[in-house]
Amino acid sequence: MAVIIGHEGLRRALRAIAAMDEPPHALLLAGPARTGRTLLALELASLLNCEAEPLEDRPCGDCRACRLIAERSHPDVLHLEPGDSFCRGGGGHQPHPDSRDIRICQVRGLIESVSRYPFEGRSRVILIEPADRMGIEAANTLLKTLEEPPPATVLVLISAAPEALLDTIRSRCRTLPVSLVPDATIAEGLREHGFDAEVAERAAGEARRRPAEALAFAGQPDLMDDRGRLLARCAEVASSRAAERMTYAGDLAERWRRDRELVLTELDVWETFWEGRLRESPGGENAARDALDALKAVAEARSDLEAQVVARMALELMLLRFPAGTLAAEGAPAPSRNENAP
Ligand SMILES: [Zn+2]
Ligand SMILES: [Zn+2]
Repeated sequence: MAVIIGHEGLRRALRAIAAMDEPPHALLLAGPARTGRTLLALELASLLNCEAEPLEDRPCGDCRACRLIAERSHPDVLHLEPGDSFCRGGGGHQPHPDSRDIRICQVRGLIESVSRYPFEGRSRVILIEPADRMGIEAANTLLKTLEEPPPATVLVLISAAPEALLDTIRSRCRTLPVSLVPDATIAEGLREHGFDAEVAERAAGEARRRPAEALAFAGQPDLMDDRGRLLARCAEVASSRAAERMTYAGDLAERWRRDRELVLTELDVWETFWEGRLRESPGGENAARDALDALKAVAEARSDLEAQVVARMALELMLLRFPAGTLAAEGAPAPSRNENAP
């Protein structure tokens, strides 16, 4: 199900932008994944192209433009993402459907399509997601487009790491922060979309304030059970000794070779685990600081893995940086600090 939950202020801002005589040429939706960023960008596309009258009825969700946009098949709404979208290939160019970056050939392909094909609606909207996956060459090529923007075109850059974008690109975008959504708002949104109260409550509680995650959980509650099991495993590993942690890191690295998504999901679960610790902070300030360090370690492991650092190293380092004996207060054996020091 594709629905936006939360983000009221941001949606008002998008509405105001769509009503401008000359909307900005480039927006940057900056905020964490799974919060509804893509849907917000598509809502802007609908606002700009909806055929309903009067203006207040837009987006109607029902006209041809709105329907095509929702189906992601509107010819004026283009989505540039990692892989090979817009890559023209040819001339000895190796195909790269599994690439994790947005490459210069794709940016060139996009610019070519934009200049070659006239658009049929009122506005063209180009989503670039995640914008921080553009390399320097791709980014510089895009920058030329930003310097001489095509008419009636809005570029929407989406990124959880806006600081990783070139300053020259960021400065040409109007930045709209996308925030996490409070649990209560998510639960209410889920109920409004027909989920029963208990499932809505539970999914909202597990979703780390990310509506897309909550929708996935509510639609498939089994996922929450799996996550519950993984969380229990995290608690076990966090309270174990260095040798056991290294065994776990090794297992995870082994799995990385076969199923990257699975490992990235497990890192999400680690994040949930440490965010929980941070909220509860049973040991007061020190425990909160430990949890924050652990969260940083998870984030770094994720970007190391994405940057193709040797998986075993990245994961061992993460486990080594986790605080020692997290569960000591709950009666699990606590290893000494020295034992776990890197
Ligand atoms: Zn419409
Ligand atoms: Zn290519």
